[in-house]
Amino acid sequence: MTNNQTLAAHAKDVFVPNYRPAPVVLDRGEGVYLYDIEGRRYLDMVAGIAVSALGHAHPRLTEVLQTQAAKLLHTSNLYLNRPALDLADRLVAHCFGDRVFFCNSGAEANEACIKAARRFAYMNGDRERNRIVSFERSFHGRTYGALTATAQPKYHEGFGPLPGGFDYAPYGDASALEALVTEKTAAILLEPVQGEGGVNLAPSGFLAECRRIADRKGALLIFDEVQSGIGRTGKMFAHQHEPVAPDLMAVAKGIGGGLALGAMVATGRVAEVMQPGSHGTTYGGSPLACAAGVAVIDEVVKPGFMERVARVGQLLLERLDQLNQRHGVFSAIRGRGLIVGAELTEQAPFDAKDIVAECRAEGVLVHVAGPRVLRLVPPLILSEAHVDEAVAAIDVALARLTRDGAR
Ligand SMILES: *Cc1c(COP(=O)(O)O)cnc(C)c1O
Repeated sequence: MTNNQTLAAHAKDVFVPNYRPAPVVLDRGEGVYLYDIEGRRYLDMVAGIAVSALGHAHPRLTEVLQTQAAKLLHTSNLYLNRPALDLADRLVAHCFGDRVFFCNSGAEANEACIKAARRFAYMNGDRERNRIVSFERSFHGRTYGALTATAQPKYHEGFGPLPGGFDYAPYGDASALEALVTEKTAAILLEPVQGEGGVNLAPSGFLAECRRIADRKGALLIFDEVQSGIGRTGKMFAHQHEPVAPDLMAVAKGIGGGLALGAMVATGRVAEVMQPGSHGTTYGGSPLACAAGVAVIDEVVKPGFMERVARVGQLLLERLDQLNQRHGVFSAIRGRGLIVGAELTEQAPFDAKDIVAECRAEGVLVHVAGPRVLRLVPPLILSEAHVDEAVAAIDVALARLTRDGAR
């Protein structure tokens, strides 16, 4: 029989057990809703972890992909393709960057940035300058470079030896950063909004402090906008809320609208050091993924789209605050646009994952960022009515958990 429970049991037999999937087999989606194989409907407040920016089965994105799939899927980088050029044009039009390197994931985008930063120092005759400063509670991906940049011990355990040359600074503390950045620092790498680490917003002015410190010490500045980019915070990129620009930026997740697509965006002078042969990836810049990227960006830049993301996100924050006035289980509710985190108080007698399970029973998918933070990163097409629907489910979940505790 093909129901959720039997397939979930089967999954335990065939998959490497590195994930802990909910016993839900998703079958199709429409807008902000997902349906499992038993026909149950869920409001999607996760978007495949900040990926499905346009929701599911978006008419324009679907049409573009169907057309492109029937024409050409893959070229390699031995040749050019039109969608990759079109997407690169759009990326540079909407940020500080001059040049784009395409890849297939957030980890790869960060690897490219780390490599470019080291290579930049090397090509400038600065052979000792190879260290990367990243931040506590960061998340940059699971490949060795990105993993080592990820300053969270739980991700490192048992995977050593890790590559050398990484230093960790406390997030948001400019004077601690200043002390760590030396003439050996090739780059400072940070998320303008830490996603996996708990939805932590950079304190106002901190990104500019990072820029200033990088400039003074001769290091480059890398922003990891894998989770925060492509309209998620109500601007194309989260750092654009402040008057600051990096030298390199990692992009992925939302840009593909659900296809595997990542990018490194660079200034011209940094891009210059990545000459032929220095780096590459077989699938990077595939016409199919890039066609998706073009369709996503064209939707996100439509008049009013990002303003609505900001407005709906603000409403979500307010509704959660109101909810918390009754439940009193969150010590902080924070976010910008449609990346929102709600941190449980130390006293709350349940974990964020328990809220996830209870919400799912109510037909709403939510996610966590660590054990004590509830994370909401819905499709960017979320409306005010959907906010009410999501918050109503969280209300029921919290009422049950405060009454009965975790199951
Ligand atoms: C998810 C994420 C990554 C890693 O992306 P993958 O596509 O899983 O490799 C890197 N940085 C940030 C900020 C992320 O949220």
